[in-house]
Amino acid sequence: MESSEFPKEADIVIVGVGGIVGSMLAYWFAELGQKNVIGLEKSSVIPSDLGSTAHASDFVYNTTHDKLSNWTTAYSRKFYEDNGFFLKKGGLEICRVGDYERWEELKRKVGSGKAFGTNVKLISASEAKEKFPLLDEDSIMGAMWDPDAGLVVPRSQDVVSFAVESAKEKGSLKTLTNTPATGFKIEKDRIIGVRTKKGIIKTNKVVVASGIWGPLLGDMAGVPVPLSPLEHPLLFFWTIATN
Ligand SMILES: Cc1cc2nc3c(=O)[nH]c(=O)nc-3n(C[C@H](O)[C@H](O)[C@H](O)COP(=O)(O)OP(=O)(O)OC[C@H]3O[C@@H](n4cnc5c(N)ncnc54)[C@H](O)[C@@H]3O)c2cc1C
Repeated sequence: MESSEFPKEADIVIVGVGGIVGSMLAYWFAELGQKNVIGLEKSSVIPSDLGSTAHASDFVYNTTHDKLSNWTTAYSRKFYEDNGFFLKKGGLEICRVGDYERWEELKRKVGSGKAFGTNVKLISASEAKEKFPLLDEDSIMGAMWDPDAGLVVPRSQDVVSFAVESAKEKGSLKTLTNTPATGFKIEKDRIIGVRTKKGIIKTNKVVVASGIWGPLLGDMAGVPVPLSPLEHPLLFFWTIATN
């Protein structure tokens, strides 16, 4: 349920509460006992249908080249597992025949995995095909196999609902949909309010969790936010034959 009255002030305002980052922030604020948190969302629904979370393929891979990301991924995976949102299937990162740079990168990744405690390893092309029979064995050199990789299920958006509802049940969070932050009220270099078309919410703590729109919010506060979108291919597979 949304609050009917427009809130005049808040201890904390989250901008973009309908994505995975904003919603999980709301969840943890509530767990920590924080009250009077307002979550703004420009979409008309929570979970949001606008942002990256609504479009993600929901994979969880465990190994990157920095310790903090490995740790946060392991923490997130455990959170999803504990709350029934994780399907551990394992994951492959393949290397095409002749792509020696990619092969070196996968070797480095296995090194990072060993250093940071994940279970990745390199496997042969035939082992990769055993795990994913649609692969053309002759066109790959091999793959990196992560037995602990998996999917957030049913979707990351369901985690958003879970997190937001939990924060509301604890009496910590109120959300406002169709309510984008349109600017910040700033005095002596400090934020004292968030502007929306419906009015200003007085606050001195704002968390910007607006994903790809981050630089626009940064501009409103006079703070450059370095962020650039990336494209990557994505294919979905379904069962193609049943007996
Ligand atoms: C096609 C695709 C596939 C992906 N696959 C994976 C994957 O397999 N594994 C993985 O880990 N990651 C994946 N990602 C990346 C992942 O989805 C994102 O990193 C993550 O969802 C970002 O979450 P977020 O909460 O920061 O942003 P978002 O989900 O974009 O949420 C930001 C929210 O802010 C709101 N907002 C924006 N401006 C305002 C404003 N002014 N006022 C109020 N609200 C505002 C938006 O409406 C939105 O709801 C994928 C992304 C895409 C696009």
